[in-house]
Amino acid sequence: MLLKEIKTIFHKELDALYPKEEVDSFFYSLIEHYLKLERFVLVVQPNLAITKVEEQPLFKALAELKLEKPLQYILGVAHFMDLELKVNEHVLIPRPETEELVEWIISDCRAIHSRDLKILDIGTGSGCIAIALAKNLPNAKVYAMDISEETLEVAKANAELNTVEVECIHMDILNPKEIEYEFDIIVSNPPYVRELEKEEIKNNVKAYEPSIALFVPDEDALLFYRAIIVFAERYFSKKGNLYLEINQYLGKETKALLEAQNFSEIELRKDFFGNDRMLKGKLD
Ligand code: GLN
Repeated sequence: MLLKEIKTIFHKELDALYPKEEVDSFFYSLIEHYLKLERFVLVVQPNLAITKVEEQPLFKALAELKLEKPLQYILGVAHFMDLELKVNEHVLIPRPETEELVEWIISDCRAIHSRDLKILDIGTGSGCIAIALAKNLPNAKVYAMDISEETLEVAKANAELNTVEVECIHMDILNPKEIEYEFDIIVSNPPYVRELEKEEIKNNVKAYEPSIALFVPDEDALLFYRAIIVFAERYFSKKGNLYLEINQYLGKETKALLEAQNFSEIELRKDFFGNDRMLKGKLD
């Protein structure tokens, strides 16, 4: 079939579900991934034909896109900063807001020229935060914690793929066990979306992404932050910095948790979209 005919079929089948530009972008990502064809190929070779075998993954992906499966899960690949990461349904697809949190940590660490930092990422998922930190702070020793073994497998594979060392810790932060490490920096993007906010969450997220990584009960939305703070108080070496991704509607409340535990230099930052999204505090 001609490649341009397949593109037309993509639009016919998907334009009711997604904006046209997104359908174009899906199509180009798919031909790049499966056929190694650049997006301008249709400009240069408008009548390019592909074989039945070559068509197959494109039509399989089309069927999955119709069911609103995220493209990253279809391809098994996501991008975070300049990293390529494997993803599957055990891990959340990394979000751009989280890149901003990582950039904050990197710029703080570079500014103080710290060496030999020990950094822990709690609830690492794909490993995006831990791996990006390890890549950008070569003197740091980075640890990645998660409740799920399957998730840690993905994080481990991603560390290898990106040629960094990250030590995995299998642990539920809500039921912590004794460990022998101490950390200078703890970072976390824990579950923080309340059930009452589910309406705002897109179908593809609700249907495919791991709900254990996203949702918290309405009546105890900050449970992970409380557990992380208790853990930080216990496992920070003499002093430490805590960096958190937070629920945009609970900036004040999450900040109050740090204030109540005598954190200093507390700073709440907005993300690119103007939402309260990141929090930092220091414990002496
Ligand atoms: N920012 C994510 C979302 O909007 C939520 C991430 C989280 O719960 N930690 O889907």
